Amino acid sequence: MPLIDLHSHSTASDGTLTPAALVAAAAQAGVTHLGLTDHDSMDGIAEAQSAAAELGITLVPGVELSTEHDGIISDILGYFADPAQPELARLFAATRLERVERAQRMVDALIDLGADIDLPRVAALATGGLITRPHVAQALVEAGFVGDRAEAFRRFIGQGRPAYVARVKLSPEEACRILRAAGGVPVLAHPVPPRRAFADPKGLLQLLPRLAAAGLGGLECHYPGYAARTIRWLEVLAGHNGLIPTGGSDYHGPWRPQSLLGAVRTVPADTVDRLQAARVMQA
Ligand SMILES: [Zn+2]
Repeated sequence: MPLIDLHSHSTASDGTLTPAALVAAAAQAGVTHLGLTDHDSMDGIAEAQSAAAELGITLVPGVELSTEHDGIISDILGYFADPAQPELARLFAATRLERVERAQRMVDALIDLGADIDLPRVAALATGGLITRPHVAQALVEAGFVGDRAEAFRRFIGQGRPAYVARVKLSPEEACRILRAAGGVPVLAHPVPPRRAFADPKGLLQLLPRLAAAGLGGLECHYPGYAARTIRWLEVLAGHNGLIPTGGSDYHGPWRPQSLLGAVRTVPADTVDRLQAARVMQA
């Protein structure tokens, strides 16, 4: 039986394992098809591909884009997109710059709050990948201002906390369009909050038809913490909107035990084939 996990992060964005180490950990966990979906970057894909080939598992190339519409933040995963396509390449370059600016502003705010951390250290923790909040959190841990990364988010850099800096975001329609133009299949990530049966803060009933018209191809119906009835409901919504149900763990490293590789075991066996077909259909 295939074990499909289509949502994971490496050191190319805010994960703690290198792409090769991530693939090895996935294989160890019994995953047969791994999607690498770093935030705003596909820089880890080549390394992950060759590690996967060596270990005999399938690597599904992906990316995760943050979007916003009317104050609602949605993450759009994209599978099989070509990062060399001009619009997507431009988006990745702009995002990389913006992430550096954002880190500068977060560190400035932290210094004002008395948590005097060092921006070059934050950049070093990103090891050449995108600078993200877990790197800022790690610098806060190292400097002794918090006990662990979770406390850093809770006290300082989580949304609504005093050193939180919002990102400039695309609309979800724009993200779908750019991913389709690059030959990819866009999928709406974690559409409802975990552990809340039918909470719908994004207004999925209205959002999904709109995004489907903009090229959305799938809906992440299987996610850590989703109850069986939530999954069934999301699959109904996917069916009504002509979307492929997908799923994954959203693994970021062993420091987030609620989402371990291969922990979501209900992703349908034909999911990768259907994504491939959706990509071919529009090509
Ligand atoms: Zn993610």
